[in-house]
Amino acid sequence: MIEQNVKNLLSEIPQTNPFGERVTLVAAVKTQTPDDINRAICAGVRAIGDNHVQEFRDKYDLIEGNPERHFIGHLQTNKVKYLIGKIDLYHSVDRMNLAEELSKRSAAAGVVSDILVQINIGNEETKGGFEPEEAEEACARISTLTALNIKGLMAMLPFIDDQTELRRLATMMRDIYDRLMATYPQFEHLSMGMSGDWKLCVECGSNMIRLGTSIFGARHYN
Ligand SMILES: *Cc1c(COP(=O)(O)O)cnc(C)c1O
Repeated sequence: MIEQNVKNLLSEIPQTNPFGERVTLVAAVKTQTPDDINRAICAGVRAIGDNHVQEFRDKYDLIEGNPERHFIGHLQTNKVKYLIGKIDLYHSVDRMNLAEELSKRSAAAGVVSDILVQINIGNEETKGGFEPEEAEEACARISTLTALNIKGLMAMLPFIDDQTELRRLATMMRDIYDRLMATYPQFEHLSMGMSGDWKLCVECGSNMIRLGTSIFGARHYN
């Protein structure tokens, strides 16, 4: 099941987006067992993304195949210390004090951490991230933090059905990304797209998608 899902996805996901960039699949592994995560890795997943620090720590030694480790969920500043040096890419840097804590802890550990700046593209009260209008200012301030390297942007589209509106927001997100890339040539990733909307996101210029349900099936919370 998981193996087949990964195989199907890897053949379905286009090699490149319309901007000629490779599209990276990140498996969103919240609530999944180490066995299931290892199955997905075995089937070809090369990056996995966690949401919860405790879950990440509990499973850390049980993950096989040496995948890239990403952190994709909301991150409390008091938990940053458990992740430093173990995460290849932090997707969800959604506020200034989190960036400051990540930089401080990274510097103390003698590492530079790669991050994405999260943008609240739908201006939703329930979602974290900088407002689209704040993106430039946020990147400028975060780029002064010496132990962080801004590798791009991350966004979550609203959970709505209106395809026209979703396309408008995803395109707006790509525009912000392109504009900032002129200032930050190290930009590599626009992380946008989940199981329900990844095709649309890739068509609009995302180059990193985070899929949970379409790899592992519906999540069981207990
Ligand atoms: C859970 C999660 C995903 C994956 O969601 P699916 O709809 O199951 O693909 C992607 N990104 C983030 C930040 C998530 O928390």
